[in-house]
Amino acid sequence: MTTLKHIELTCPICSNRFNSQAVLSTNSFGGKRTDFHERAAGAQPLPYFIHLCSRCGYAGSERDFSDEADVSPILKEHVWDELAPRLSSGLLPGSEKYEFAAKVAIWQGCEPRRIADLQLRAAWCCVDEGDIEAERYFRRHAAWTFERALASYDGVERDERAVLTYLVGELWRRVGDMGKAREWFEKVEGEITNSQTQQWIVDAARQQRDCPREWFG
Ligand SMILES: [Zn+2]
Repeated sequence: MTTLKHIELTCPICSNRFNSQAVLSTNSFGGKRTDFHERAAGAQPLPYFIHLCSRCGYAGSERDFSDEADVSPILKEHVWDELAPRLSSGLLPGSEKYEFAAKVAIWQGCEPRRIADLQLRAAWCCVDEGDIEAERYFRRHAAWTFERALASYDGVERDERAVLTYLVGELWRRVGDMGKAREWFEKVEGEITNSQTQQWIVDAARQQRDCPREWFG
């Protein structure tokens, strides 16, 4: 089962002290989708890896609320202008926590790779929230941002290029753009750095191109 713990955080933007819930332990017994979305048995842990200040809208991992947080005056301005007005009285769903955290990462000038991961997780949360339109919106943004990471010279480790190229294909497949999906699946083989340990990625790309499955295994 997924278990949570209470933590106390201080917002580095507005100094608000608040309680949040963090993941103490989880599991992956719920299987893995072909876009690497790992499922837990019981409650899904994903929304609890990101914390959000209900006063200003700043969001991020526990580290982003520590002394290591990278907070500039420009970031503060963006948070107050663009995130704070979107806060409502209720709890924000996981997808919006990740959306806010992705915006913070963009304003901090983080690598596209990190921003794309947050957008991908926003899409995964939408699956659990049953919001198909928002799921597609975040999948498209994640695909574009992963594409940007892959296009930059050192945006992605050499050994990771094949798996992320596959993932871009799978994201386009899941938004229904089969043309783009095929294009990316067909690039996978050219990105392989180790034909023994990475053969599964080539196989997965072929499978998702020709006879797609929703789950691994
Ligand atoms: Zn705050």
